[in-house]
Amino acid sequence: VVDLGMPNRTVLTTCAYCGVGCSFKAELRGDEVVRMVPYKDGGANEGHSCVKGRFAFGYASHPDRQLNPMVRDTIADEWREVSWEEAISTVATRMRDIQERHGTGAIGGITSSRCTDEEVYVVQKMVRAAFGNNNVDTCARVCHSPTGYGLKQTFGTSAGTQDFKSVAESDVIMVIGANPTDAHPVFASRMKRRLREGAKLIVIDPRRIDLVRSPHVEAQHHLTLAPGTNVAIVNALAHVVVTEGLVAEDFVADRCEDFDEWREFIARPENSPEALAEVTGVPAAEVRAAARLYAAGPNSAIYYGLGVTEHSQGSTMVMGMANLAMATGNVGRDGVGVNPLRGQNNVQGSCDMGSFPHELPGYRHVADENVRDIYEKLWGTPILPEPGLRIPNMFDAAIDGSFRALFVQGEDIAQSDPNTQHVHKALESLELVVVQDLFLNETAKFAHVFLPGTSFLEKDGTFINAERRINRVRPVMRPKTGKHEWEIVCEIAQAMGYPMTYENTSQIMDEIALTTPTFSGVSFELLDRVGSVQWPCNENAPLGTPIMHEETFVRGKGRFMPTVYVPTKERSTRKFPLILTTGRILSQYNVGAQTRRTANVAWHPEDVLEIHPHDAEVRGITEGAMVSLASRVGQTSLRAKLSDRMPVGVVYTTFHHPVTGANVVTTEHSDWATNCPEYKVTAVQVGLLSVT
Ligand code: SF4
Repeated sequence: VVDLGMPNRTVLTTCAYCGVGCSFKAELRGDEVVRMVPYKDGGANEGHSCVKGRFAFGYASHPDRQLNPMVRDTIADEWREVSWEEAISTVATRMRDIQERHGTGAIGGITSSRCTDEEVYVVQKMVRAAFGNNNVDTCARVCHSPTGYGLKQTFGTSAGTQDFKSVAESDVIMVIGANPTDAHPVFASRMKRRLREGAKLIVIDPRRIDLVRSPHVEAQHHLTLAPGTNVAIVNALAHVVVTEGLVAEDFVADRCEDFDEWREFIARPENSPEALAEVTGVPAAEVRAAARLYAAGPNSAIYYGLGVTEHSQGSTMVMGMANLAMATGNVGRDGVGVNPLRGQNNVQGSCDMGSFPHELPGYRHVADENVRDIYEKLWGTPILPEPGLRIPNMFDAAIDGSFRALFVQGEDIAQSDPNTQHVHKALESLELVVVQDLFLNETAKFAHVFLPGTSFLEKDGTFINAERRINRVRPVMRPKTGKHEWEIVCEIAQAMGYPMTYENTSQIMDEIALTTPTFSGVSFELLDRVGSVQWPCNENAPLGTPIMHEETFVRGKGRFMPTVYVPTKERSTRKFPLILTTGRILSQYNVGAQTRRTANVAWHPEDVLEIHPHDAEVRGITEGAMVSLASRVGQTSLRAKLSDRMPVGVVYTTFHHPVTGANVVTTEHSDWATNCPEYKVTAVQVGLLSVT
């Protein structure tokens, strides 16, 4: 620990880890952060924080940071440090050359949920205006893209319904496929406070997460469903609501549409808890009791995470939860709603900023001529009406040779995307890979140009948290690299012949506000004056919107959607008899780029595989033994941890570890609507390697 002495200035900014979006006062001495002090007036955290936001900022000055741009001709060559001018010119020249040889659509970009709204906005603008196509996607593709799809279909907009404070008014809290105490600790504290006051808790998760039983908190129902059967469970819950007369008839009649068709579908015998018990593994009586508790409320809220979205039916499940909330009248007031707990700091914002290949900022389809017209006039260039490539399509097209160059902003796709071997093959197939990141990550091993990025301590802009709260990110120091990321992107666009300049990020936000109705009232001046606001923030809601769909849904009427349960193709077999599911732990973060480069947080040098004692015993596996974990696509090894938190037949590890990374075994299966990978269900075999 280095004693930096007393701080001599403070800067109010936002945590760069999870989607809670806690506000902190960075206390500095010179350019060194002495302390991160949680801000008592922070809209999301009200003075609270977790270990990551409070202590894990040392990575920003870690010697691993590469501060100069670098280029090389092939990935077999040594890197060569170059000037910014040469790096930018190299990117622009090679991108243009590839387009001349392979067509306009042969290049594309990926934006990052780690970056600010302003940084993301300029990348999608560069792709659309300078690259001339819609080949832009975001790392939300692999986490919450089903949230975007499912909530838009049912409610009309791709975002959670509530502010965090709302949970204090909940009588029943249903947590599905989320582990808030590890992944969203500050929000989990709010939730636990309400549970200690007497709110009832329903947890739907194969694994016994801490929330099920912790000091002074005990779930009334823990539905330990088989991985991959979420839709069956939500249909069974809704079946009970419909067939036992628990529907909020007035709410449904006044506020919703397509209910009668849905009622007919969900009331069918095949959707009953009894019929589905064999599929889900959950006794029908448990499902019936949980459904009655949720419907009785009176204020019942659903909170969910990647355990909902990262499935082949992720989008269907999101719509199933929305159906359940509408059927019971649990939308549009305090204490209710359907709420995605976003993983990364700016998942919400990166999606809001038009990072999807089919949507411009504000979730407006590229096929909409009126929307395209707004941007075409302002940007002075045509925008294609056809959606571009999603990330998995980019990988496939790279392997078949039609996609040749990729710009990757702040995402380590070589580690974090599923079926690592396939991703590596795609990256090796590309003529040009440009990586913009803090560190020479795994993806940079396949790169030809490395553009050093900035940490949150150098950024100037906004992050948007899971409750749609737009928080200011203020720089505590100048970029260590000499350039902001948005400046680099603008200069690449310029070098490719498209004029793109801003004096500062406030101007970028002004352009976002000018073109996006849900942001039309947002400016840095407003955020600096009032602290933060939740979108929509416009003439109808000048100080933002804590709770959505209060009078009407964004799409007018809430729409019931059919949610037919379709089993995943990923089944356990004689060769691969167990199911692997993955998740987060508190002290580490994603692939560890930040947390393993921070002295304040204990980095675990290896990951563990949680396995039920019965499954361990039949394989001769004891606590701490090294085991192999193999699926039909790959294999890794890690240490066993015997745990009765796991049901028999299911094993668990994190997706945090760069060496024992679970993604060498995860498969190509993905959500039918969005291609979000099915990380949560992989058939595996586990075998003893050695006993320690
Ligand atoms: Fe940061 Fe999330 Fe922890 Fe808050 S809860 S300090 S946003 S990691």
